[in-house]
Amino acid sequence: MEIRELHPGTEHERVVECVDDAARYHGIVAIHSTVLGPAVGGTRVWRYSTVDEALTDVLRLSRGMSYKAAAAGLYFGGGKCVIIADNQRMDRETIFRAHGRFINYFGGRFITGEDVGTTPADMEIVRLETAHVAGTMHGSGDPSPFTARGVFLAMTAAAERRWGSSSFSGRTVAIQGCGHVGYHLARELHAAGAKLVVADIDAASCDRVVREMGARRVGTEEIFDVEADVFAPCALGGILNDGTIPRLRVPVVCGAANNQLAEARHGDALEARGIVYVPDYVANAGGLIHGASEVNPGGHAVPSVEGIYSTAREVLELAQREGIAASLAADRVAERRLRRG
Ligand code: NAD
Repeated sequence: MEIRELHPGTEHERVVECVDDAARYHGIVAIHSTVLGPAVGGTRVWRYSTVDEALTDVLRLSRGMSYKAAAAGLYFGGGKCVIIADNQRMDRETIFRAHGRFINYFGGRFITGEDVGTTPADMEIVRLETAHVAGTMHGSGDPSPFTARGVFLAMTAAAERRWGSSSFSGRTVAIQGCGHVGYHLARELHAAGAKLVVADIDAASCDRVVREMGARRVGTEEIFDVEADVFAPCALGGILNDGTIPRLRVPVVCGAANNQLAEARHGDALEARGIVYVPDYVANAGGLIHGASEVNPGGHAVPSVEGIYSTAREVLELAQREGIAASLAADRVAERRLRRG
């Protein structure tokens, strides 16, 4: 196992690459900040075409984790791990055992969990080698119902800001993506009396929400043009961009997808259109908050998922007071906490 410290800049505390030829393992861990506590962040498996591409991704994602944890009021820092591999063809037992040994290298300053390309079963393998893993089958489990709950609460704060009422009765919400989070979000909204319009590239996921909650199904392109009260992106990143923002016919955007803004300036574009936007990492922290209760090494009180409502309110109020985009207001709330430590 060959371990190498990388020095790609000054923003991250540590960036470490590990190559284990015998296990065919190649991973990079980036620890952005441990000011508030040990860094947490999932393990992503992806077929990166170059090491540079993997490095760029892990740097960006670990920074995002610091901001998400800080804004959520958690005593955790931000980190991330990427494994360069073909998810369909890898030897999972060998790779995730090697991964667990690499995680041990950080002595508990980095705690990982599942992410794109990994499952709770993979994390069980990681646990054979290290204690610094969360979200396994014996731990806090599937985070998506908690993530969906948080998105619903954030949406409630946005509704109050927009309409002076938190009621969803009779409101229409357009959900892009009916996967793990989208489905649970649809359930929360349906129970609150909302009408649903849904789109998914996977017909079966969409049909389930249509069948169980009477949602109306539209095409995956059409979802951006739907006239509704809220647009909830729960599929992909980068979907709020120059092409889609002018098309939106909603006064509120709030969803679970990570990195919804294609570029930072798209936060201003939403603001310029008068759209109330709850920044992604504020709205989608529910799974992280729930998972934090599993590890919580510092013994600090862990905020509850319900607290997402107050964080979203704080961000929207700051944005209005300062006349800035909500995305920038969220960064300020997180940075204030990161500075305080
Ligand atoms: P998922 O893979 O279960 O669901 C995503 C759904 O989006 C799938 O059903 C997929 O078919 C659909 N989809 C993909 N491309 C689409 C397109 N172009 N148009 C419409 N639908 C499309 O993932 P998930 O766990 O529900 O997560 C959804 C989003 O929320 C992701 O961006 C994820 O990173 C983010 N997120 C999830 C959690 C969590 O707890 N699962 C936590 C934080 C953030």
